[in-house]
This record gives sequence, C-alpha cells and structure tokens, in this order.
Amino acid sequence: MRQPAWGFLFPGMVDILRGARQRDSKFMALLVMKFGGTSVADIERIGNAARHIKREVDAGNACAIVVSAMADETNRLVELTRKASALHDAREYDAVVSAGEQVTAGILAIVLQSMSIQARSWQGWQVPITTNDAHGAARIKEIATEELKSRLGRGEVAVVCGFQGLAPDNRITTLGRGGSDTSAVALAAALGADRCDIYTDVDGVYTTDPRIVAKARRLERVSYEEMLEMASLGAKVLQTRSVELAMVKGVRLLVRSSFQAPQDCAAMRLDGNDSPGTLVCDEDEIVEQQVVSGITYARDEAKVAILNVADKPGVAAAIFGPLADAGINVDMIVQSVSDDGALTNMTFTVEATQLDRTLETLKSSRTEIGYADLHGSSDVVKVSVIGIGMRSHAGVASSMFRALAEKGINIQAISTSEIKISVLIDAAYTELAVRTLHTLYGLDAA
Ligand code: ADP
Ligand code: ASP
Ligand code: MG
Repeated sequence: MRQPAWGFLFPGMVDILRGARQRDSKFMALLVMKFGGTSVADIERIGNAARHIKREVDAGNACAIVVSAMADETNRLVELTRKASALHDAREYDAVVSAGEQVTAGILAIVLQSMSIQARSWQGWQVPITTNDAHGAARIKEIATEELKSRLGRGEVAVVCGFQGLAPDNRITTLGRGGSDTSAVALAAALGADRCDIYTDVDGVYTTDPRIVAKARRLERVSYEEMLEMASLGAKVLQTRSVELAMVKGVRLLVRSSFQAPQDCAAMRLDGNDSPGTLVCDEDEIVEQQVVSGITYARDEAKVAILNVADKPGVAAAIFGPLADAGINVDMIVQSVSDDGALTNMTFTVEATQLDRTLETLKSSRTEIGYADLHGSSDVVKVSVIGIGMRSHAGVASSMFRALAEKGINIQAISTSEIKISVLIDAAYTELAVRTLHTLYGLDAA
C-alpha cells in the first residue's frame, strides 16, 4: 500500500494512517489544489473554491493552494504595459503582470479565515520560488519548502500565488501565460504531494476543445506523453511546461471542475476512487488505449513561403541559419521542387508573434539566399491528431488526409512524430477539420 508522501510531518503518523485505512478506508493526504482564473473570477467563486478546500481540510488532508489572477485580470495588466510603451522593460512587465495573483491569494486567505480555517497567503518571493532570469517566461529552479511544510503540519492552509517567481537578482519574474499550472506542479513535486488537482472551468481533459466541438468527450485518463503533445499543440487546458514537469517528477495530476458543487465531491482518497475529472498519469495505468485520444488546433502559427530559390546544397542553411541567430523557432518545413529541378520553394511555419521579425530577417539575407519572392500569412491553423496507439497502428495519416480532402480542405504542410500528425490548413476550415477528424476517429460522445 502506498504511504502518504508527507509522513515526515508527523513521525509515526504513517502507521496511524495505515490503521485508519484498514479501519474505515478514510485517508489523509497532502494535496496541492490549483484554481484558475475563471474559478476565482469573483467573490462568489472564490467562496466556492474555499468550500472545495474546506472539504479537504475537514477530511484531514493537508492543503497547499495555488491561485491564478481573477479572470481577465492578467490580460488587463498586459494591456496596460503595452499601452505604457510598446517596447517596455521585461523586468517591469513582470512587476506589473504578477500583481493579479497577489490579490487572489490574499482574498482567498481572508475567505478561508472567515470560515474558521487557518490560512496564510504567500507571494512567490516570500516562499521563495526561485527562477532563472528569463523575464516573462522564467523557469523554476527551486522552491523552499521548510517553512511551508512546518505550517502545513500545524494544519495551516498555504495559499500560494501562481505564475510568480524570484530571479537571482531578487526581481519578480513570471512563468509565461498559463504559468500557474506549472507553479502548482512544481510545488506538488517540491512538497512530495500525493496529488495535484487542477480546478478549472471544464470537468477534465476532453478529446478536443469542448468550446468548438459539442460532442467532445471527457477522457477518464490520459498519459503524460499524450497530454504533453495536446498541450503543446493547442489544448490550453494545461500549460505545456506543467505537463513536462509532472512527467519528469512523477506528479499525479487531476484536471477537474471548480464549478461542481463542493458538497457533491468526495474528499481526496489515496486509492484514487474519488476521481472526478481526468487523471494525467503513466501510460501503463491506462487499460483501454484508443489509437487517437485527442484532436487539437493552434491558431498561433504563421506561414512563410520563399519562392524560387536555387535547389542546391547550402540553401536551407542560408535560410534557417539567420532565423536561428535571431532566436526564431521554425516548426513545419516543406520543400517543393519546380519542374526543371533547378529551383525550389520553401514553406515553413513560425510563431505568429514572430512573423514580422522573420520576414525582416529574410529580407536582410536576400542576397545570400537568392530568392525571387517572399510571402507571409497568419491566416492558417495547425490541426493535430494525437494518440500513443499510433505507435503500433498504421494508416492514421492516410485516413486523415483522405477525410480532409473529401471536405475540400487543402493541406499546406505536414509534420509528424511517433504519436501525432499535424497539418497546416486555411484558418477558415478550423472547426470543420476538427469536427471531421473527431468523428473519423470515433471520438464523438454518444
Ligand atoms: P484556467 O483559467 O482554469 O487556467 P484555461 O482557460 O487556461 O483555464 O483552460 C481551460 C480551457 O481550456 C477550457 O475552458 C477549454 O475551452 C480549453 N480547452 C482547450 N482544449 C481543451 C481540451 N482538450 N480539454 C479541455 N479543455 C480544453
Ligand atoms: N494569470 C496568469 C495568466 O493569465 C497565469 C495563469 O492563469 O495560469 O496567464
Ligand atoms: Mg490556464
């Protein structure tokens, strides 16, 4: 039987817990609970989050909470920095946009206290959660847990600001948009939590974005690897880095709804039998494996086409070398050779936010590359099908291409890995493509 990872809090407690489990199967655990923006959008919803926390506290579980800013607050702060100056200082950007989480953490602590629960808020620098100095997209290096552990051991609830960190020069950093998920997983790993619950506005991870496909189905379980592909290919329900971290550190992640009435949910149990939502876990914990588990779309890529370049050694290096030097990440690449075989067209994708810089860079290297024309367009979307079953199952790509062709959807670029196939198509066909593939792979809810 698995021992609670937080036995360190009370020497001898593990044995008591074992006894308790045998007696009435009521377990104590250390839980990280993360509440996203819509789950703390106003005082009423913060009250609802507090009742989810109370349920766990009443069941004897130790709770470390991670909160996001109230819905849309971070967007408002980002917009303020942009209005102040388009070319603002990255350190001051972080000083501004990290502020939303401070408000939520304090308010939630007050609400918990008013419910007679001991609670204290923690900003990133107070913990501290130390990061590197990549302002706006910082990576967590370490979380100091001694003080938190001792307070959790005394029954206090720690309400930690997500998204925030502290750079080596003591300035505030942020972890990139959606970064509270990563704060939660990192805290769960550092504390050795039994589980990290991500409370959001959907009741789990779906086969595709439920906002665009009404027939999307909730997955009971999804493997870290599939979730990693889904997140990085557009399923914004979890920040990609949080899944990466959960996979490396073996953190069990449960994505669940904060809108479900707290009293209708069971408290966390170590046997996992309380699980509403979607458990992100190891592949071998999933009994029934589908060939395709999910479909995603990402609108944040742009297409660049370089026309009539010489088809000779060194051309790809002449194009992609300067882009790499400018820090531009290139994703899908397609090369097509003209009839006479002497000239070629090169098409590739970059992040939409980097399109202007890409075009500038290519224009300034025009003499070295030697091309006839250059086009850029952000009117494209990348649609991907993902599933670990694809490793042992041929024919997914061909059925995907056929189904899209039957709907008159032209594929502009393709990229594949062992467990995913992505195609670049005209953005106008996003919903049609996602719905078509969702039905094709048998994912529609009954
Ligand atoms: P939070 O504010 O709680 O962090 P997010 O908005 O970041 O919430 O993520 C939840 C949203 O992710 C959902 O409202 C849903 O529209 C979107 N989403 C996209 N793809 C998926 C998917 N495959 N499964 C579930 N939700 C998805
Ligand atoms: N508040 C931050 C954002 O909106 C972090 C998060 O919500 O995860 O990006
Ligand atoms: Mg989010």
